[in-house]
Amino acid sequence: MIYFDNAATTAVCEEAADAVNKGMQCFGNPSSLHRLGLDAELMVSGARETIAQALGADPSEIYFTSGATESSNTAIFGSFRAHSKRKNKVIISAVEHPATANAALVLEEAGCEVVRISPREDGRFYAEDFINAVDENTFLISVMMVNNETGYVLPVSEIFSGVKKKDRTVLTHCDCVQGFMKLPVKVKKLGADMISLSGHKIHAPKGIGALYLKKGVHLPSLLYGGGQESGFRSGTESVPLIAGFGAAVEKLSPTVNARYKKVGALRDHLVLGCKEHGWIVNSQEDASPYVVSIAIKGLRSEVLLHYLEKKQIYVSSGSACSKGKKSTVLAQFGCASVSDFTLRISFCADNTPGEIDTLINEIKNAENELAKVR
Ligand code: PLP
Repeated sequence: MIYFDNAATTAVCEEAADAVNKGMQCFGNPSSLHRLGLDAELMVSGARETIAQALGADPSEIYFTSGATESSNTAIFGSFRAHSKRKNKVIISAVEHPATANAALVLEEAGCEVVRISPREDGRFYAEDFINAVDENTFLISVMMVNNETGYVLPVSEIFSGVKKKDRTVLTHCDCVQGFMKLPVKVKKLGADMISLSGHKIHAPKGIGALYLKKGVHLPSLLYGGGQESGFRSGTESVPLIAGFGAAVEKLSPTVNARYKKVGALRDHLVLGCKEHGWIVNSQEDASPYVVSIAIKGLRSEVLLHYLEKKQIYVSSGSACSKGKKSTVLAQFGCASVSDFTLRISFCADNTPGEIDTLINEIKNAENELAKVR
């Protein structure tokens, strides 16, 4: 099997699986006052420390959630509830994941003004376009770090520092799901008040994520109950999943740069192959190497995806989250004309150049075979 759909989800690594198992054996409730509770609490706090350290944050700034969708919703609706009495404008990029884009849509329906900043004609985002949109009515700006369909890296630090210079009361949120553990992500450099993270994109299990909330930023919680996670996210902590998330971060954190280089070589290999065969590369040269969007004109994505699946090669057509729906993100990046022919190839460091050669050969075979039946 060749798995090139790592932006959709990743295989759970051995270290994370072991930690999940230990977390299940350590079955106490972290809130219990006896030793079993304390053991469970130690697992949770250990993972919190590991994730905080990886981000250059304080452990008290990390809140565990069920995934990045919950983290982003908490950031967006929490900001709204904290500020909507005085301000009603939100700024996002036009290429956000639905976890942000659809939350913003709900705010729009509730009467907020939502400004969606698009790339310019050259397909690139410019920080000044976001900064210029900020006015005295703005309470939140939410910009993703790496786009999940093309790998495009948005100039988040530049945007957030410019926004804060203009008005330091505007809250800044970054969806770092496709950047965390792949590119260096440090809270100080990013200048974000809030950061959303997901476990299953970095070889931890599904159903676990985190929200970084900068000290001094106070949001109302969305869940009311037993007051876990310092009262911010009620509900008994999923000790096994949290332990798995921590173990994956502990494993990956020291190798961010080395893996970036390795995956960069994989991306270059794929891009070269595409160019040799006249296939289109939608992703820009300076995009994250972990996501490569390509288009083979004449071969519809879904047809090619299932052809490759029969050869045990797993890829995605656009983004897994936009299943069945035409991607608006590719159109934003100026790739509307090829969106029906687009495949997303997304790597992890375990992929090899040989696997890319197999992919290229099979796409060539598909071109030949499917052309015959057309
Ligand atoms: N943000 C981005 C950029 C993503 O790629 C995804 C997952 O596809 C999410 C958010 C949602 O993450 P989760 O599945 O943890 O809710």
